Amino acid sequence: MKYTSTRGGMAAKSFTEILLGGLAEDGGLAVPDHYPVFSAAELAAMRGMNYRELAFEVISRFATDIPAEDLKTILNKTYTAAAFGSDVITPIKTLAPNLHVLGLSNGPTLAFKDVAMQLLGNLFEYALAKDGATLNILGGTSGDTGSAAEYAMRGKRGIRVFMLSPLGKMSPFQTAQMFTLQDPNIFNIAVTAPFDACQDMVKAVSNDLDFKAKYQIGTVNSINWARVTAQTVYYFQTYFALTENNSQKVSFAVPSGNFGNVCAGHIARQMGLPIAKLIVATNENDVLDEFFKTGIYRPRAETMHTTSPSMDITKASNFERFVYDLVGRDPKVLKGLWQQLETEGYFDLNDTPYFAKVQEFGVASGASNHADRIATIRRVYQEYGFVMDPHTADGLKAGLENRDADIPLVCLETALPAKFEETIQEALGITPTRPAGYENIESLPQRFDVLPPEVAQLKAFIAARVPL
Ligand SMILES: *Cc1c(COP(=O)(O)O)cnc(C)c1O
Repeated sequence: MKYTSTRGGMAAKSFTEILLGGLAEDGGLAVPDHYPVFSAAELAAMRGMNYRELAFEVISRFATDIPAEDLKTILNKTYTAAAFGSDVITPIKTLAPNLHVLGLSNGPTLAFKDVAMQLLGNLFEYALAKDGATLNILGGTSGDTGSAAEYAMRGKRGIRVFMLSPLGKMSPFQTAQMFTLQDPNIFNIAVTAPFDACQDMVKAVSNDLDFKAKYQIGTVNSINWARVTAQTVYYFQTYFALTENNSQKVSFAVPSGNFGNVCAGHIARQMGLPIAKLIVATNENDVLDEFFKTGIYRPRAETMHTTSPSMDITKASNFERFVYDLVGRDPKVLKGLWQQLETEGYFDLNDTPYFAKVQEFGVASGASNHADRIATIRRVYQEYGFVMDPHTADGLKAGLENRDADIPLVCLETALPAKFEETIQEALGITPTRPAGYENIESLPQRFDVLPPEVAQLKAFIAARVPL
């Protein structure tokens, strides 16, 4: 399997080569040159496999330059009951007939990003040890990516993490999870600007190819292809758990921000998994919902600070991979659209044949606001006795609006409610129980630096901490 850029300006690379990189040299995203498709017989054989076996079946099709035995070792070490609370890794909770919640948030940071990030930590360690290399991970986070990356990389040899976050915009719990880490290879940088500015700073540094090479800069943001790949696995597992044969279909509702999670579902569907609908859920930052309803993609200048903060994103980086498929995987067309984004601030696919593909790909969407979130959390608690985090509530609302009555709907639980106590308190008047070990996390000493949204200052910060 070879990888190219969505914008056509990167020589073909292997999985391991793109594993440690960020954006492609031309500013695009790495994509596989084709999607491997499972035959009916292969899908039937995957039924009954456990999570680790399924992960091998799926990921080995993409990581073709990692020897099978090595990949198995890495997967067996990653997807353990010790790290994810049970051997199922991502358990299903059934609320009602044809209505399920997929528990993706049982890893060390209580959010779905652990599923991919724990694997990434082990893949990075493996790839770096092979060449005796080092890596300085630069990332931006509005909450869960940062802590998931730090917990995956802490103490790993040859790796440093420089993690940007918008100062004061994460929940106290999320902030504490990251800032209380005392590992010397972890650097928390609080930026006095919204998340999109953090993401722009990361992009600017990654686009400075000399700096990137000199300081061995890599990324773990959701544009990392290995992360998207790792996330396809639970779509397969869930599908097999809820169906008896491959003539049946399942729909998924996905709380979305950078479009990584739902992109993984789209890829699973392209690989032959019988998914009916992929329902993209947004909060008040509803750029994606607008696109799926109108064909117009118009990232906003302003990001709203909401009560589902990990979805407070106005430029969905992985969306470029999806649009690449919409335009028939033609890098020239894709590049033209992104040039138009630069010059005019939007593009409109409504009157093009490309937009019809949205339906073909089974994608629908819905948006929520704060009142919706509170109402959904309340209703789910009253009807099913289940406490749902605010992001998952956004997912459920959009899912219920778009579902087909006779097809199982699975809402992806992207975080545990314990991470968002204030909102749960507002909705239910109770404090969600915290898993053991997290009781007093906000009172532990914190370690972080503050920077303005200036690329030059970020470069100086990194240069001062990376011995050459
Ligand atoms: C990251 C995150 C999302 C958004 O996922 P994307 O892959 O960026 O679309 C949703 N909910 C939570 C809790 C998250 O941490």
